[in-house]
Amino acid sequence: MGEQIVNILLVEDDEVDVMNVKRAFKKNNVTNPLFVCNNGLEAIEFLTQRLASNPAEVPRIILLDLNMPKMGGIEFLRELRKNNELKNISVFVMTTSNEDRDKVDAYNLNVAGYILKPLSMERFIEAVSTLNNYWKLCEFPE
Ligand SMILES: [Mg+2]
Repeated sequence: MGEQIVNILLVEDDEVDVMNVKRAFKKNNVTNPLFVCNNGLEAIEFLTQRLASNPAEVPRIILLDLNMPKMGGIEFLRELRKNNELKNISVFVMTTSNEDRDKVDAYNLNVAGYILKPLSMERFIEAVSTLNNYWKLCEFPE
């Protein structure tokens, strides 16, 4: 217990938001390896490749943006949940979309949380701190 290295995948098309997540990780001393894909399609490819090459290191947690080119977050979730070996990944939506439709769709696809991107960096750092405390508390299967 406690020795597991939980890989995290960030699916986000906005470079500034990617930088903000990295910054918030640093500020909170989050040491989990962080992988980044820029849209849903890229993320599906990354995960299926990982599954084939190194199944023990498939990310357990995904931080997911919704509005992205090629494949958005909701479509990505649909693909993810269809895949027997990937469907158990915990997904936290991090988005600027306050649309009820997106929230309903996301929770129907079993997201662990739906987080509106806060406006200030300070609050964003707090949000990542809360997430970090949450996944540090969780045990994951080998
Ligand atoms: Mg976006």
